Amino acid sequence: MDTSNIPSWLQTKWQALLQQYRRNALPHAILLTGKLGIGKSQLATQFFQWLHCSQHQENDEPCGHCRSCQLMTANTHPDHYVINTETTIKIDHIRGLSNQQALTPHLGLWKTSLITAADKMTTSAYNALLKLLEEPPPYRLFILTAAAMEHIPVTIKSRCQHHAIVTPPIQIGRQWLHRHTQCDEQTLKTALMLAGEVPQQALQYIQTGRVEKITNLMHSFKNLQAAHANIPLLAEQWQESDIELMTTHIQRYCQQQLLNTDVADTRQYYLSLYNDVLTMKKQLLSRHNMNRLLIIENFMVTVMHKAPLFSATLGQDNHGNFS
Ligand SMILES: [Zn+2]
Repeated sequence: MDTSNIPSWLQTKWQALLQQYRRNALPHAILLTGKLGIGKSQLATQFFQWLHCSQHQENDEPCGHCRSCQLMTANTHPDHYVINTETTIKIDHIRGLSNQQALTPHLGLWKTSLITAADKMTTSAYNALLKLLEEPPPYRLFILTAAAMEHIPVTIKSRCQHHAIVTPPIQIGRQWLHRHTQCDEQTLKTALMLAGEVPQQALQYIQTGRVEKITNLMHSFKNLQAAHANIPLLAEQWQESDIELMTTHIQRYCQQQLLNTDVADTRQYYLSLYNDVLTMKKQLLSRHNMNRLLIIENFMVTVMHKAPLFSATLGQDNHGNFS
């Protein structure tokens, strides 16, 4: 069995979907939840392709060659509809889907629909979708994806079978990344940490150079902890960088340090540092038009003032590489 298009952490769900189909027990609507980049749409699209594939009875994966497979790969299958919008899903999006649902299938038995970010929808769009989900004709499958369940109305949830995609253990993520990139171990570690341990998201961070930038910025942060920094110069650099991602990374670093020690002074130092980062983050994300450079500089001054506390922690703990 070759299911190489499906990453290992999606395999259980993939097999479950195949089994449901073969037992004639597929629901007409499925809600897939999981972190950003975990592969929800990938799993759904692959399953839809398999469902439309003219040779699916014999295979555990789409053949990749039949007309349906080719149309799915080209995103032009007439019996498959996708709502994938960066903005909130509005009633017009659902009307488009509704119009497509009214037609009989062109090629096979199935009509399929994928709605990504289904937790970002207007109330009227939800109501229109609800009508579609209430009593669809046979051979219809809707898959909705969302990062979390909580923003989806109960009425929608109650009409969907829920599958949660769990983030794989870090070791699995590392193995997967090793097969897809030539990076060194430290870069992989940083990428996974930045991506909340989601492998495909981590790969994207590596490929777009984001990891390298953050690694450099974190080195400057370490210098700042030791009071070896030119604040005006560094603040300019930080301001032009991905500061939101970076603050998240510093927070995770503080959390990691807290987990690694039970020395009271060290804990206190990293706890206060964590709160300083949180304050800066809140100010940066605030809707008020505050001076970003000033916020960053204030944070840097605070960190520098705590350098003696940082030095004291070095004598007490064995600090690992944090980048
Ligand atoms: Zn096929």
